[in-house]
Amino acid sequence: MSDLMEQEELQKKLDLLGLTDDQKIKDIVCSLIGHSKIQTACFGYFYCARCGDQLGDALASTYEDAPNVVIVGHKCDVCEANYSKCTWQDKFMCPNPFEERKEKG
Ligand SMILES: [Zn+2]
Ligand SMILES: [Zn+2]
Repeated sequence: MSDLMEQEELQKKLDLLGLTDDQKIKDIVCSLIGHSKIQTACFGYFYCARCGDQLGDALASTYEDAPNVVIVGHKCDVCEANYSKCTWQDKFMCPNPFEERKEKG
């Protein structure tokens, strides 16, 4: 774990880039520190809650990480337990998975 970037370091890198496009920033964050364990699920497909990339397909049983993810809005015991294991890398620029969904804007 020691080779992972610190949050401060990541923030500095992002500041240096001077990007204003949130989606671009999120894409870069995921490429630097990996996708978040906080994910959205839709019809068996899992998407990174940060960048929106599709990460897995639970229907085809090809998504080994499925038991370890926190599904946004799910609020079950498994998701809450997994959330307690999430690091800043998972939470950085991600929505709070247990917060009521608000209107965009
Ligand atoms: Zn991602
Ligand atoms: Zn759940």
